[in-house]
Amino acid sequence: MTRDFTFPGLATRVIFGSGTLAQVGVEVERLGHQHALILSTPHQKDQAQVLADSLGPLSVGVFAGAAMHTTTDVTETALAAYRASGATCVVSLGGGSTTGLGKAIAVRCGADQVVIPTTYAGSEMTDILGETADGAKTTRRDPAIRPEVVIYDVDLTLSLPVALTVTSALNAIAHAMEGFYAPDRNPVVEAMCRDAMQAFQRALPVLVADPVNRAARSDALYAAWCCSTMLGQVTMALHHKLAHVLGGSFGLPHAETHAVLLPHTTAFNAAAVPDLLAPISDVFGGPAGAGLWDFAEGLGAPMRLADLGLTEPDLDRAADIALRNPYWNPRPFSRDEMRTLLQAAYEGRRPTN
Ligand code: NAD
Repeated sequence: MTRDFTFPGLATRVIFGSGTLAQVGVEVERLGHQHALILSTPHQKDQAQVLADSLGPLSVGVFAGAAMHTTTDVTETALAAYRASGATCVVSLGGGSTTGLGKAIAVRCGADQVVIPTTYAGSEMTDILGETADGAKTTRRDPAIRPEVVIYDVDLTLSLPVALTVTSALNAIAHAMEGFYAPDRNPVVEAMCRDAMQAFQRALPVLVADPVNRAARSDALYAAWCCSTMLGQVTMALHHKLAHVLGGSFGLPHAETHAVLLPHTTAFNAAAVPDLLAPISDVFGGPAGAGLWDFAEGLGAPMRLADLGLTEPDLDRAADIALRNPYWNPRPFSRDEMRTLLQAAYEGRRPTN
Protein backbone atom coordinates (compact mmCIF):
# COMPACT_ATOMS: atom_id res chain seq x y z
CA MET A 1 0.00 0.00 0.00
CA THR A 2 1.36 3.46 -0.81
CA ARG A 3 1.48 6.12 1.84
CA ASP A 4 -0.21 9.33 0.68
CA PHE A 5 0.00 12.52 2.71
CA THR A 6 0.31 16.30 2.60
CA PHE A 7 2.76 18.05 4.90
CA PRO A 8 1.68 21.68 5.25
CA GLY A 9 4.98 22.91 6.72
CA LEU A 10 5.44 24.82 9.96
CA ALA A 11 4.54 28.51 9.82
CA THR A 12 5.61 29.54 13.32
CA ARG A 13 9.15 30.41 14.45
CA VAL A 14 9.97 28.52 17.67
CA ILE A 15 12.58 29.24 20.32
CA PHE A 16 12.92 26.57 23.01
CA GLY A 17 15.15 26.49 26.06
CA SER A 18 15.90 27.90 29.48
CA GLY A 19 16.22 31.66 29.98
CA THR A 20 14.63 32.28 26.57
CA LEU A 21 12.28 34.91 28.01
CA ALA A 22 15.21 37.29 27.55
CA GLN A 23 14.74 36.96 23.77
CA VAL A 24 11.24 38.47 23.64
CA GLY A 25 12.50 41.97 22.78
CA VAL A 26 14.71 40.72 19.95
CA GLU A 27 11.80 38.74 18.52
CA VAL A 28 9.39 41.69 18.71
CA GLU A 29 11.92 43.84 16.84
CA ARG A 30 12.67 41.06 14.35
CA LEU A 31 8.96 41.14 13.43
CA GLY A 32 9.37 44.87 12.77
CA HIS A 33 7.56 46.23 15.82
CA GLN A 34 8.47 48.96 18.29
CA HIS A 35 5.42 48.72 20.55
CA ALA A 36 4.01 45.57 22.16
CA LEU A 37 1.10 45.08 24.58
CA ILE A 38 1.76 42.31 27.12
CA LEU A 39 -1.21 40.01 27.90
CA SER A 40 -1.75 37.79 30.95
CA THR A 41 -4.37 36.53 33.39
CA PRO A 42 -4.84 38.43 36.68
CA HIS A 43 -2.95 35.53 38.33
CA GLN A 44 0.19 36.13 36.22
CA LYS A 45 0.00 39.93 36.22
CA ASP A 46 3.20 40.39 38.26
CA GLN A 47 5.14 38.11 35.92
CA ALA A 48 3.79 40.06 32.93
CA GLN A 49 4.78 43.36 34.57
CA VAL A 50 8.35 42.09 35.12
CA LEU A 51 8.49 41.21 31.43
CA ALA A 52 7.08 44.63 30.46
CA ASP A 53 9.69 46.36 32.63
CA SER A 54 12.48 44.32 31.08
CA LEU A 55 11.34 45.35 27.58
CA GLY A 56 11.65 49.06 28.38
CA PRO A 57 10.17 51.30 25.64
CA LEU A 58 9.22 48.25 23.53
CA SER A 59 6.39 47.61 25.99
CA VAL A 60 3.36 49.89 26.05
CA GLY A 61 1.95 48.14 29.13
CA VAL A 62 0.12 45.09 30.46
CA PHE A 63 -3.47 43.97 29.94
CA ALA A 64 -4.00 41.36 32.68
CA GLY A 65 -7.65 40.47 32.06
CA ALA A 66 -7.35 37.18 30.13
CA ALA A 67 -9.90 34.60 31.33
CA MET A 68 -10.90 30.99 30.66
CA HIS A 69 -13.00 30.33 27.50
CA THR A 70 -12.03 33.61 25.74
CA THR A 71 -15.30 35.51 26.19
CA THR A 72 -15.95 38.16 23.58
CA ASP A 73 -16.66 40.87 26.18
CA VAL A 74 -13.11 40.46 27.55
CA THR A 75 -11.79 40.53 23.99
CA GLU A 76 -13.62 43.80 23.22
CA THR A 77 -12.14 45.41 26.35
CA ALA A 78 -8.66 44.13 25.47
CA LEU A 79 -9.00 45.27 21.86
CA ALA A 80 -9.91 48.79 23.02
CA ALA A 81 -6.85 48.78 25.31
CA TYR A 82 -4.68 47.49 22.44
CA ARG A 83 -5.88 50.25 20.07
CA ALA A 84 -5.51 52.98 22.69
CA SER A 85 -1.98 51.82 23.55
CA GLY A 86 -0.51 52.32 20.08
CA ALA A 87 0.85 48.76 20.09
CA THR A 88 1.26 46.88 16.81
CA CYS A 89 1.77 43.43 18.30
CA VAL A 90 0.85 41.43 21.38
CA VAL A 91 3.04 39.33 23.66
CA SER A 92 0.93 36.63 25.36
CA LEU A 93 2.48 35.28 28.56
CA GLY A 94 0.53 32.37 30.09
CA GLY A 95 -1.62 29.33 29.37
CA GLY A 96 -4.26 28.67 26.75
CA SER A 97 -6.56 31.41 28.07
CA THR A 98 -3.96 34.14 27.53
CA THR A 99 -2.93 32.72 24.16
CA GLY A 100 -6.63 32.67 23.22
CA LEU A 101 -7.00 36.37 24.04
CA GLY A 102 -3.96 37.20 21.89
CA LYS A 103 -5.41 35.20 19.01
CA ALA A 104 -8.80 36.90 19.40
CA ILE A 105 -7.12 40.31 19.14
CA ALA A 106 -4.96 39.20 16.19
CA VAL A 107 -7.84 37.86 14.13
CA ARG A 108 -9.78 41.12 14.61
CA CYS A 109 -7.02 43.61 13.76
CA GLY A 110 -4.08 41.72 12.25
CA ALA A 111 -1.75 42.12 15.24
CA ASP A 112 1.36 39.93 15.21
CA GLN A 113 1.71 37.58 18.19
CA VAL A 114 4.67 36.47 20.26
CA VAL A 115 3.45 33.73 22.61
CA ILE A 116 5.20 32.48 25.73
CA PRO A 117 3.29 29.38 26.88
CA THR A 118 3.45 28.52 30.58
CA THR A 119 1.15 25.44 30.57
CA TYR A 120 1.02 22.36 28.34
CA ALA A 121 -2.46 23.12 26.85
CA GLY A 122 -1.04 23.59 23.37
CA SER A 123 -2.88 26.56 21.85
CA GLU A 124 0.29 28.43 20.83
CA MET A 125 1.15 26.53 17.61
CA THR A 126 -2.38 26.32 16.21
CA ASP A 127 -4.63 28.30 13.89
CA ILE A 128 -7.60 27.46 16.14
CA LEU A 129 -9.58 29.93 18.25
CA GLY A 130 -12.44 29.01 20.57
CA GLU A 131 -14.56 31.94 21.73
CA THR A 132 -17.54 32.21 24.05
CA ALA A 133 -20.44 34.60 23.47
CA ASP A 134 -23.83 34.45 25.20
CA GLY A 135 -22.86 31.19 26.92
CA ALA A 136 -22.03 29.32 23.69
CA LYS A 137 -18.49 28.41 22.65
CA THR A 138 -17.66 28.29 18.95
CA THR A 139 -14.38 27.32 17.32
CA ARG A 140 -12.86 28.48 14.06
CA ARG A 141 -9.62 28.02 12.12
CA ASP A 142 -7.94 30.85 10.21
CA PRO A 143 -4.29 31.40 9.21
CA ALA A 144 -4.51 34.88 10.82
CA ILE A 145 -4.99 33.18 14.20
CA ARG A 146 -1.65 31.33 14.15
CA PRO A 147 1.05 33.11 16.21
CA GLU A 148 4.18 34.33 14.40
CA VAL A 149 6.66 33.44 17.18
CA VAL A 150 6.49 31.04 20.15
CA ILE A 151 9.10 31.24 22.89
CA TYR A 152 9.18 28.22 25.22
CA ASP A 153 11.04 28.93 28.45
CA VAL A 154 11.33 25.91 30.73
CA ASP A 155 11.99 28.22 33.71
CA LEU A 156 8.44 29.61 33.51
CA THR A 157 6.92 26.15 33.98
CA LEU A 158 8.67 25.50 37.29
CA SER A 159 5.82 27.30 39.08
CA LEU A 160 3.05 25.29 37.43
CA PRO A 161 1.15 23.60 40.31
CA VAL A 162 1.33 19.78 40.29
CA ALA A 163 -2.42 19.35 39.71
CA LEU A 164 -2.37 21.63 36.66
CA THR A 165 0.88 20.04 35.47
CA VAL A 166 -0.88 16.67 35.36
CA THR A 167 -4.19 17.75 33.83
CA SER A 168 -2.56 20.10 31.34
CA ALA A 169 -0.25 17.29 30.19
CA LEU A 170 -3.22 14.91 29.82
CA ASN A 171 -4.90 17.67 27.78
CA ALA A 172 -1.84 17.64 25.50
CA ILE A 173 -1.79 13.82 25.35
CA ALA A 174 -5.42 13.97 24.18
CA HIS A 175 -4.30 15.99 21.13
CA ALA A 176 -1.72 13.30 20.36
CA MET A 177 -4.21 10.46 20.89
CA GLU A 178 -6.52 11.95 18.26
CA GLY A 179 -3.52 12.72 16.04
CA PHE A 180 -2.84 8.98 15.61
CA TYR A 181 -6.10 8.50 13.71
CA ALA A 182 -6.66 12.00 12.28
CA PRO A 183 -7.72 11.70 8.62
CA ASP A 184 -5.21 14.41 7.62
CA ARG A 185 -2.26 13.10 9.67
CA ASN A 186 1.22 12.90 8.15
CA PRO A 187 4.47 11.18 9.18
CA VAL A 188 5.74 14.25 11.06
CA VAL A 189 2.52 14.37 13.09
CA GLU A 190 2.74 10.64 13.88
CA ALA A 191 6.35 10.95 15.01
CA MET A 192 5.51 13.93 17.21
CA CYS A 193 2.58 12.08 18.80
CA ARG A 194 4.80 9.13 19.69
CA ASP A 195 7.66 11.28 20.94
CA ALA A 196 5.35 13.42 23.05
CA MET A 197 3.73 10.44 24.75
CA GLN A 198 7.12 8.94 25.59
CA ALA A 199 8.39 12.24 27.00
CA PHE A 200 5.27 12.81 29.11
CA GLN A 201 5.34 9.20 30.31
CA ARG A 202 8.91 9.74 31.57
CA ALA A 203 8.46 13.25 32.93
CA LEU A 204 5.13 13.28 34.76
CA PRO A 205 5.85 10.80 37.57
CA VAL A 206 9.08 12.72 38.22
CA LEU A 207 7.25 16.07 38.31
CA VAL A 208 4.56 14.81 40.71
CA ALA A 209 7.35 13.94 43.16
CA ASP A 210 9.63 16.88 42.31
CA PRO A 211 7.80 19.75 40.49
CA VAL A 212 10.97 21.80 39.99
CA ASN A 213 12.99 19.02 38.35
CA ARG A 214 14.39 20.92 35.37
CA ALA A 215 15.14 17.92 33.16
CA ALA A 216 11.59 16.61 33.58
CA ARG A 217 10.16 20.11 33.04
CA SER A 218 12.18 20.33 29.82
CA ASP A 219 10.89 16.91 28.66
CA ALA A 220 7.30 17.91 29.44
CA LEU A 221 7.52 21.27 27.68
CA TYR A 222 9.12 19.61 24.65
CA ALA A 223 6.22 17.13 24.61
CA ALA A 224 3.77 20.02 24.84
CA TRP A 225 5.42 21.65 21.82
CA CYS A 226 5.02 18.38 19.86
CA CYS A 227 1.35 18.14 20.83
CA SER A 228 0.61 21.77 20.01
CA THR A 229 2.39 21.51 16.65
CA MET A 230 0.49 18.41 15.59
CA LEU A 231 -2.79 19.91 16.86
CA GLY A 232 -2.15 22.82 14.50
CA GLN A 233 -1.95 20.47 11.52
CA VAL A 234 -4.79 17.97 11.82
CA THR A 235 -8.49 17.51 12.53
CA MET A 236 -9.66 16.44 15.97
CA ALA A 237 -12.61 14.08 16.54
CA LEU A 238 -14.87 12.64 19.27
CA HIS A 239 -12.62 13.35 22.25
CA HIS A 240 -12.32 17.07 21.51
CA LYS A 241 -16.00 17.31 20.62
CA LEU A 242 -17.04 15.89 24.00
CA ALA A 243 -14.59 18.10 25.90
CA HIS A 244 -15.97 21.09 23.99
CA VAL A 245 -19.57 20.12 24.86
CA LEU A 246 -18.78 19.71 28.57
CA GLY A 247 -16.72 22.92 28.74
CA GLY A 248 -18.96 25.08 26.56
CA SER A 249 -22.44 23.97 27.66
CA PHE A 250 -21.79 22.90 31.27
CA GLY A 251 -18.90 25.17 32.26
CA LEU A 252 -16.59 22.29 33.23
CA PRO A 253 -12.88 23.21 33.66
CA HIS A 254 -10.86 22.69 30.47
CA ALA A 255 -7.78 20.65 31.41
CA GLU A 256 -9.55 18.49 34.02
CA THR A 257 -12.33 17.59 31.60
CA HIS A 258 -9.82 16.45 28.98
CA ALA A 259 -8.04 14.42 31.64
CA VAL A 260 -11.19 12.58 32.76
CA LEU A 261 -12.49 11.88 29.24
CA LEU A 262 -9.20 10.71 27.72
CA PRO A 263 -9.20 7.01 28.78
CA HIS A 264 -12.86 6.62 27.77
CA THR A 265 -12.65 8.23 24.32
CA THR A 266 -9.40 6.33 23.69
CA ALA A 267 -10.98 3.00 24.63
CA PHE A 268 -14.05 3.74 22.51
CA ASN A 269 -12.05 4.49 19.37
CA ALA A 270 -9.42 1.80 20.03
CA ALA A 271 -12.18 -0.74 19.37
CA ALA A 272 -12.36 0.55 15.77
CA VAL A 273 -8.70 1.41 15.04
CA PRO A 274 -6.58 -0.77 17.36
CA ASP A 275 -3.55 -0.68 15.07
CA LEU A 276 -3.50 3.12 14.87
CA LEU A 277 -3.67 3.43 18.67
CA ALA A 278 -1.17 0.64 19.37
CA PRO A 279 1.63 3.19 20.04
CA ILE A 280 -0.33 4.24 23.16
CA SER A 281 -0.20 0.68 24.48
CA ASP A 282 3.51 0.56 23.69
CA VAL A 283 4.12 3.68 25.81
CA PHE A 284 1.67 3.25 28.71
CA GLY A 285 1.23 -0.55 28.75
CA GLY A 286 -2.02 -2.52 28.61
CA PRO A 287 -4.89 -1.80 26.25
CA ALA A 288 -4.77 1.88 25.19
CA GLY A 289 -7.72 3.20 27.23
CA ALA A 290 -6.90 1.17 30.34
CA GLY A 291 -3.21 2.09 30.07
CA LEU A 292 -4.04 5.80 30.05
CA TRP A 293 -6.51 5.34 32.92
CA ASP A 294 -3.81 3.64 35.04
CA PHE A 295 -1.27 6.33 34.15
CA ALA A 296 -3.67 9.17 35.06
CA GLU A 297 -4.76 7.52 38.30
CA GLY A 298 -1.14 6.96 39.33
CA LEU A 299 -0.51 10.69 38.88
CA GLY A 300 -3.46 11.64 41.09
CA ALA A 301 -5.48 13.10 38.20
CA PRO A 302 -9.23 13.66 38.59
CA MET A 303 -10.97 10.51 37.31
CA ARG A 304 -14.71 11.29 37.51
CA LEU A 305 -16.87 13.90 35.75
CA ALA A 306 -18.96 13.76 38.93
CA ASP A 307 -16.06 15.46 40.74
CA LEU A 308 -15.88 18.30 38.18
CA GLY A 309 -19.39 19.59 38.85
CA LEU A 310 -21.41 17.56 36.34
CA THR A 311 -24.66 15.98 37.60
CA GLU A 312 -26.13 12.68 36.42
CA PRO A 313 -29.15 14.34 34.73
CA ASP A 314 -26.65 16.46 32.70
CA LEU A 315 -25.43 13.28 30.97
CA ASP A 316 -28.58 12.97 28.83
CA ARG A 317 -28.34 16.54 27.60
CA ALA A 318 -24.58 16.18 26.98
CA ALA A 319 -25.19 13.06 24.85
CA ASP A 320 -27.89 14.93 22.90
CA ILE A 321 -25.59 17.90 22.22
CA ALA A 322 -22.70 15.60 21.23
CA LEU A 323 -24.93 14.10 18.50
CA ARG A 324 -26.24 17.45 17.28
CA ASN A 325 -23.63 18.39 14.66
CA PRO A 326 -22.17 15.54 12.64
CA TYR A 327 -18.36 15.35 12.65
CA TRP A 328 -15.75 12.86 11.61
CA ASN A 329 -14.71 10.06 14.01
CA PRO A 330 -12.96 6.76 13.22
CA ARG A 331 -15.85 4.90 14.88
CA PRO A 332 -19.44 5.89 14.11
CA PHE A 333 -21.57 6.15 17.24
CA SER A 334 -25.16 6.30 18.40
CA ARG A 335 -26.72 8.46 21.08
CA ASP A 336 -26.90 5.40 23.40
CA GLU A 337 -23.18 4.71 22.94
CA MET A 338 -22.37 8.33 23.84
CA ARG A 339 -24.61 8.13 26.91
CA THR A 340 -22.80 4.93 27.98
CA LEU A 341 -19.35 6.51 27.45
CA LEU A 342 -20.35 9.60 29.44
CA GLN A 343 -21.74 7.44 32.27
CA ALA A 344 -18.41 5.57 32.51
CA ALA A 345 -16.52 8.89 32.63
CA TYR A 346 -19.00 10.26 35.15
CA GLU A 347 -18.33 7.32 37.47
CA GLY A 348 -14.61 7.10 36.64
CA ARG A 349 -14.77 3.42 35.68
CA ARG A 350 -11.60 1.81 34.34
CA PRO A 351 -12.11 0.96 30.64
CA THR A 352 -11.51 -2.63 29.57
CA ASN A 353 -9.84 -1.86 26.24
P1 NAD B 1 -5.31 28.75 31.65
O1 NAD B 1 -4.57 29.47 30.61
O2 NAD B 1 -6.69 29.24 31.97
O3 NAD B 1 -4.41 28.73 32.98
C1 NAD B 1 -4.97 28.27 34.21
C2 NAD B 1 -4.44 29.10 35.37
O4 NAD B 1 -3.07 28.74 35.60
C3 NAD B 1 -4.44 30.60 35.10
O5 NAD B 1 -4.81 31.29 36.26
C4 NAD B 1 -3.00 30.89 34.74
O6 NAD B 1 -2.63 32.22 34.99
C5 NAD B 1 -2.27 29.91 35.63
N1 NAD B 1 -0.93 29.55 35.14
C6 NAD B 1 -0.57 29.32 33.88
N2 NAD B 1 0.72 28.97 33.82
C7 NAD B 1 1.21 29.01 35.08
C8 NAD B 1 2.48 28.76 35.64
N3 NAD B 1 3.52 28.36 34.91
N4 NAD B 1 2.62 28.89 36.99
C9 NAD B 1 1.57 29.24 37.76
N5 NAD B 1 0.32 29.47 37.27
C10 NAD B 1 0.15 29.37 35.94
O7 NAD B 1 -5.45 27.17 31.36
P2 NAD B 1 -4.95 26.27 30.14
O8 NAD B 1 -5.40 24.91 30.48
O9 NAD B 1 -3.54 26.52 29.82
O10 NAD B 1 -5.79 26.82 28.89
C11 NAD B 1 -7.15 26.52 28.73
C12 NAD B 1 -7.73 27.32 27.59
O11 NAD B 1 -6.95 27.13 26.42
C13 NAD B 1 -9.15 26.91 27.23
O12 NAD B 1 -9.95 28.06 27.04
C14 NAD B 1 -8.98 26.16 25.92
O13 NAD B 1 -10.13 26.23 25.09
C15 NAD B 1 -7.79 26.84 25.31
N6 NAD B 1 -7.04 26.00 24.36
C16 NAD B 1 -7.08 26.37 23.05
C17 NAD B 1 -6.39 25.64 22.10
C18 NAD B 1 -6.40 26.08 20.66
O14 NAD B 1 -5.67 25.55 19.83
N7 NAD B 1 -7.21 27.08 20.32
C19 NAD B 1 -5.66 24.50 22.48
C20 NAD B 1 -5.64 24.15 23.83
C21 NAD B 1 -6.31 24.90 24.76
